[in-house]
Amino acid sequence: MTQHETDHTPVRTKPWNFGLLSSEEFGEAEKELVLAVLDKKRVFRFLGSDKEQSEAFKLERLYRERTGAKHALAVNAGTSALVSALIGAGVGPGDEVIVPAYTYIATAAAVLIARAVPVIVEADDSLTMDPKAFEAAITPYTKAVIPVHMRGVPCRMDEIIEIADRRGIIVIEDVAQANGGSYKGRPLGSFGRAGCFSFQQYKLVTAGEGGMLVTNDDTLYARANIYHDSAFVYWDMNADIRQPPFPGENYRLSEINAALALAQSKRIEALVAKLRRIKSWIVSAIADLPQFKLQSIPDPQGDVSYSLVFYLPTSEQARRFSQRLAREGIPNGTIGNNGFADRHIYKNWTYVLEKRGASERDTPWNCASYKGNVQYSPDMCPNTLDWLGRAVAIGLHQHMTEQDRDDVVNAIRKTAAAF
Ligand SMILES: *Cc1c(COP(=O)(O)O)cnc(C)c1O
Repeated sequence: MTQHETDHTPVRTKPWNFGLLSSEEFGEAEKELVLAVLDKKRVFRFLGSDKEQSEAFKLERLYRERTGAKHALAVNAGTSALVSALIGAGVGPGDEVIVPAYTYIATAAAVLIARAVPVIVEADDSLTMDPKAFEAAITPYTKAVIPVHMRGVPCRMDEIIEIADRRGIIVIEDVAQANGGSYKGRPLGSFGRAGCFSFQQYKLVTAGEGGMLVTNDDTLYARANIYHDSAFVYWDMNADIRQPPFPGENYRLSEINAALALAQSKRIEALVAKLRRIKSWIVSAIADLPQFKLQSIPDPQGDVSYSLVFYLPTSEQARRFSQRLAREGIPNGTIGNNGFADRHIYKNWTYVLEKRGASERDTPWNCASYKGNVQYSPDMCPNTLDWLGRAVAIGLHQHMTEQDRDDVVNAIRKTAAAF
């Protein structure tokens, strides 16, 4: 008798204990590079004169090579990369920046930190920005758009770039969740005026905290550089910065973090190759099931492939499917209704919806430069809420064996057959 015939025996009884994608790989390469920083006694990138020996410099060089960008700027977080990119692009008071309704709240926060106003638009069945919603949200105040490659899935970049170019809008890519992804053969982060990466621990590769900005634009790079360290010109007298200085934050990356990010980033191609093999095998083994619809992936070859998502016809069915799949031994989750205020969903971005800043008297919405009148409400993006509400997600891992992969497929097929 096969497991399919014994309804009460879970497909999988073996524990499912894969760690995070990033820190699970910590090994000799990470130890060697981090310990070398201690041996060198150089934990600040601008200590000493040989700047090319700095780990932050080496990390920047790696990201220039990986993305083909002219410039790369290492920073201390993905959020810092986004803020620096926006400030670098000249986004500021009076400007609107279009962001998708499904992204980590940091995307919208970065816009506000740059003193601009976020405009929230629908995601479609790829769970990334709907290009039509982007175009419909453009106003005379729109300066930039931030497509976010959520859950490792590349956005519909052809449409987004075409609209942005035609309407004169700056594209800043949020690649925090899609390091190593591509679209039609080109690395994510290389499409926009700037691309922004994160090395926080939940991402594909980590330094605990850290980020990277890549760009071909000399002015954006110079301004982002000034903003990420207003003393930059002082630390690096030979830097080719031809923009007038202005006050910035301190978003500099520590050498220890840079060394860790460097060791981890060298693993990206191998990690993504493993994940792609696992996901494409699972997808082809469940593609025929009529009970649900798979997430639409704008370029499956470019998917980082650590997330498998499918939609049930109703949110109630998604909840039931998710529970039954868990009983078969496959950890999974719904996305839209997990019983907590998931800050990846715009309806939980309370301070944005309530237009609250650090000071009530002076916010990007009430400042004199802003002539627009953006409105928010928790139900303003019903399509996004509908897709998220009907979604079931399974996190994939590079260490999954053929047996693990088969367990996922068999559990999904068994659950679907009983549905
Ligand atoms: C994690 C994340 C960020 C922010 O990165 P941090 O390094 O945590 O600042 C921004 N956007 C998205 C989509 C993210 O997932």
